[in-house]
Amino acid sequence: MGEFDLIERFFKRPPRKADVGIGDDCAVWSARAGHQLAFSADMLVEGRHFLSTVEPSRLGHKALAVNLSDLAACGATPQAFLLSLSLPRADEGWLSGFSQGLFQLADAHHCELIGGDTTQGPLNIAITVMGDVPVGQSILRSGAQVGDDIYVSGHLGDARLALEAFRGSVGLPQPVFDTARLRMELPTPRVALGMALRGIAHAMADISDGLLGDLGHILKASHVGAEIDLAAMPDLMQTSHLWSCPSDLALTCVLSGGDDYELVFCAPPSASEAIHAVSQACMTPITRIGRITGQPELVLRDAHGQIVPLKFRSFDHFA
Ligand code: ADP
Ligand code: MG
Repeated sequence: MGEFDLIERFFKRPPRKADVGIGDDCAVWSARAGHQLAFSADMLVEGRHFLSTVEPSRLGHKALAVNLSDLAACGATPQAFLLSLSLPRADEGWLSGFSQGLFQLADAHHCELIGGDTTQGPLNIAITVMGDVPVGQSILRSGAQVGDDIYVSGHLGDARLALEAFRGSVGLPQPVFDTARLRMELPTPRVALGMALRGIAHAMADISDGLLGDLGHILKASHVGAEIDLAAMPDLMQTSHLWSCPSDLALTCVLSGGDDYELVFCAPPSASEAIHAVSQACMTPITRIGRITGQPELVLRDAHGQIVPLKFRSFDHFA
């Protein structure tokens, strides 16, 4: 199977939304009136972002999911994506599983594959995604205001728990490992939630490198600080087996685990009812975990209001 047969067989489909899709030198796209375009790129490298043993369909899902999560974090509506693949060989079984997982998630979000690049080399998957958002309504990291409440969607920590189990640093009963592994390999990008928070959230980011680190980006961009209530952390673990893990491990997973693809956002106290309604409409739990302060620092408080020393670090490829 040659390069062009491979593209034809596994990735080319009739254009759905693009004016010109796969097969020409460029894809051509007409922007919607009254909208701004939102772009993001995320790359998955074997051994760095995923294990070689992962099921190809799950890898296809995850490669797109992490990109959709970035659009969600800005409140953008997914529209299209480019797929750049470096493959050691043209393995039909792998390509078939990969494209199936990829297209299943793409179709669920009406996000069209409009082009890309294919080359031989070490396994590496790079996606560039494009979405749109009504003019002026994107939710950025820089909008947090003193007095805002800080919220997190869904649950955190399971992907990190699975990683620790893979590394052998924690032993988990099989069913617990299986659920945590699903969260690591099949993350759910919070696209509908991100869009529903337009006009409500002042600032937002997705949690890919760990809660404290990604919240830290918001604080830095907004020139503010934050107080986090550790008493809220069990709510973030509610459906997870982190509950029954040693509390140090559970807190590490929740506060700096990474690979969660949930949203952390800031909104004024007056928005609490609207946020409750959004949570119900999107069938996604939302937990209030603290507040934005004028002091330029990130402070953790225990249930008694005492300050707890910060010893959690987020993921950094070059640290
Ligand atoms: P060019 O030589 O102009 O860079 P290519 O020969 O690499 O184009 O690709 C041919 C067509 O197939 C282009 O439309 C390109 O966007 C598309 N394409 C290549 N690889 C992929 C892929 N992995 N997924 C989707 N489309 C792809
Ligand atoms: Mg060309």
